[in-house]
Amino acid sequence: MGSQSNGQPGQGLGNRALLDKVDKLRELGISHLVPLPQMVVVGDQSSGKSSVLESLTGFQFPRAATLCTRHATEIVCRREPTESVVVSIIPHNPSPEREKLVRGFRRSTDRIVSDDFPKIFEAASTIITPPITPSITLKSIWLKRIMQAAKVMGIKLSENDGDGGSAFSLDVLKVEISGPNADHLTVIDVPGMFETVTPGVTTESDIDLVKNMVKRYIQESRTIILAVVPCIVDIANQKILRLAAEADPQGKRTLGVLTKPDLCIENATKAVVCDLVNGKRRDLHLGYCVVKNLGADDVSGNMHRRNQQEQSLFGQAPWNTLPSDRVGVAALQTRIRHLLMDRTRAEFPFVKSEIMTSLKKSQKLLADMGASRSTTDQQRAYVGKVASNFVTLKNYGLDAYYTRHNFFDDYEMRLITRIRTINEAFSLVMHERGHAREFEGASTDGDGKGMDEPDEVLLAGDRSLLYGDKVNLKIPMFGDGDLGDIVSDSYWCAEPERGDMLQHIQELYLNSRGYEMGTFSSEMLSRTFKEQGSKWRPMTLAHVSNALLVVHQFIRRALEECCPDSTVRDELWGFLLYGQEGEGHEGLLGRYARAMDHVEFLLSVEFQERAITHDPRFDEKLSQLKLGGEKPASEGPDNGQPAQEPEKGPSSSLEDTTREIHNLLQSYYGIARSRFIDVVCQQAIDYFLLRAKDGPLEVLSDKVVLNMSAEQLDLIAGEDLAVKEERERLAKQVESLTQALKILRT
Ligand code: GDP
Ligand code: MG
Repeated sequence: MGSQSNGQPGQGLGNRALLDKVDKLRELGISHLVPLPQMVVVGDQSSGKSSVLESLTGFQFPRAATLCTRHATEIVCRREPTESVVVSIIPHNPSPEREKLVRGFRRSTDRIVSDDFPKIFEAASTIITPPITPSITLKSIWLKRIMQAAKVMGIKLSENDGDGGSAFSLDVLKVEISGPNADHLTVIDVPGMFETVTPGVTTESDIDLVKNMVKRYIQESRTIILAVVPCIVDIANQKILRLAAEADPQGKRTLGVLTKPDLCIENATKAVVCDLVNGKRRDLHLGYCVVKNLGADDVSGNMHRRNQQEQSLFGQAPWNTLPSDRVGVAALQTRIRHLLMDRTRAEFPFVKSEIMTSLKKSQKLLADMGASRSTTDQQRAYVGKVASNFVTLKNYGLDAYYTRHNFFDDYEMRLITRIRTINEAFSLVMHERGHAREFEGASTDGDGKGMDEPDEVLLAGDRSLLYGDKVNLKIPMFGDGDLGDIVSDSYWCAEPERGDMLQHIQELYLNSRGYEMGTFSSEMLSRTFKEQGSKWRPMTLAHVSNALLVVHQFIRRALEECCPDSTVRDELWGFLLYGQEGEGHEGLLGRYARAMDHVEFLLSVEFQERAITHDPRFDEKLSQLKLGGEKPASEGPDNGQPAQEPEKGPSSSLEDTTREIHNLLQSYYGIARSRFIDVVCQQAIDYFLLRAKDGPLEVLSDKVVLNMSAEQLDLIAGEDLAVKEERERLAKQVESLTQALKILRT
């Protein structure tokens, strides 16, 4: 408060320190996050709000009777060794372009020349009271500045301004006053409320706009409401008192200020005012004060004169009978100071905990955004971090270190376990029903158990049907669209045909023999083998596709885990999936294709013309079959010699030849099947899908990121401006709130 205020040297240093802290918090600009104690002056138009403010702060505001304030003005007074005044604008909900313009407005001076202030605010009043006469007013540099401010705030300067804008603005004009004589006080002067429209100046919607603006300010629980009511109106029916009672039902923060007592003529009116000040009416818990400001006729704006006038008025009856602590501006100042102090002290613990909450929230938001990514280096570091986390997860998945990350709490992510499960099931199904026909004398027990042909519907969608009841896991269908060309159809393996295998072979033999006598061509084996293994191809392709889908889902989910930013993730996923032609990065699709190609390779090798094995078990099996097989054909002579080489054997009947082919096929098939299952699992799946240096799981690694070009990185990890600004805003917020906590702790 100004130099003319009745200073209160008795105020303890502790109090001052508390207010100092609040001031420092306010300087940090956190009041939009955590409301701080402040004061708002409200009332009807021309009730004397600005006059009261002026009296309180000692700085001069416009007092012209015609004046109506068209935007809120926040006046922040601070006691500081050096003088300065800063005028700026706090925009309300600005468009991006306007925000820049408004925030760019900032005028400051390092001197408080008190003669200047009437001019400054006179200038402001000139701006909002059309028409203006530029020739006179533009002389003042301050006027120019305020005019600029008004323009930036979008206030209609005159009727002919014609942009249809409101006569009021929700922007806040902020005036920061510091000096050795200023006292800690933040006061907000809001436009006065009014009931009737002035054609060409205000509209119906302006009435509500102002009312809502006032409501917004008084709703805030840390705001002290100075309800200004002139003595010359029907005080009890003042709308502002009703609004204040709604916003502050306990009346803890509403102080009534009666103005214009000098204009009371009738004794009855004076008596009403005296009753109010004396607390005879209990509508306001904190009661009323009465002040006398300069009247409309007094254009001097002289504060000294004002105080003299006030003193002389209150020296007269009936005012001199009132309690002195409720009469005059000095008493009001003291009361406000105490009130502010009380509120501040009461609210302080809440302010502190709210700052902590707000800090945590901002920190979390900031952390969720990740590190800044504007330069190539930052982008590389960002994607590099994603990659190294991915590599870690992938290795855990391959090594079954599932306890090291809660990612694996989801069983579907237990990569190597799932691969092993389906590999084993594949092996079992291959053994049970991978062959086209049952061999002669094959055991038939347990056939078809749990392997009933499924419904057509299920068959189409459920890829795990391949394994029958051997597994109960679902093969993920994720990425089907992308992988359509690579992944084979799902396959359900029917049971092998039953019936006379010997008969079948005999027919085959008879339909393809040449001139061989007592023997058969070596082609007979590969031909029957091809037929017996006719299901291998669809089964194997389906199985390796299933493994591929498991790997694919794992990669996707691991990426989601490592890259929480969905924008980056989507770009990165595209890069991983399709690769970058010409940049030497092969995508997942190419890597998967190699595994599937290898399946084709293994199949083609297995079913080529020559049947080859050097497995000693082949001979064992063959002789075993021969021995066993002779029993049913007991009519024939049994010389006890194994007949591995049919050509050299004794001349055989057709039946013997057929049986020989059968036994040969059965021996070879078993060997080939084991070999095939193993190489499929070992090469197509374990090597090509899981471990290969150029396999799918290597699609994202530190090395890949190192080789990314600047353009790629920018495409993947670059941020748009909005994100960048949001991060900066949050970072600043975190810094301010951290600073605020530090202030509170000292
Ligand atoms: P606001 O619209 O609520 O800000 O009201 P102002 O402070 O601008 O005052 C409106 C008019 O009332 C101005 O002409 C003031 O000079 C005048 N006024 C304010 N307070 C008093 C007072 O106590 N006595 C007299 N006579 N006039 C006053
Ligand atoms: Mg005013």
